[in-house]
Amino acid sequence: MLRLNCPWCGTRDEVEFSFGGESHITRPSLDVSDAIWSDYLFNRENPKGIHHERWLHRYGCGRWFNVARDTVTHEVHAEYEMGAPKPEIPGKDSD
Ligand SMILES: [Zn+2]
Repeated sequence: MLRLNCPWCGTRDEVEFSFGGESHITRPSLDVSDAIWSDYLFNRENPKGIHHERWLHRYGCGRWFNVARDTVTHEVHAEYEMGAPKPEIPGKDSD
């Protein structure tokens, strides 16, 4: 089972959290082309390695935070607050 460290509550089992998809996605302005808008709506990264993703502590504090997780090993490298920049992960390609 995956265990996540909520920045506010501490380490908890995966069942307390809900996955929220890829993090660090910026919504474009409303006057962009249909191609850019559809790319924003439908296309997401699917890396083999480090993935930056959003998680909600649904059955805890109810707050969102980011997780840097390896999609191959499920190892969690970092948990950090929303709005914070992607952390450096030594020896890993974080993009
Ligand atoms: Zn929490």
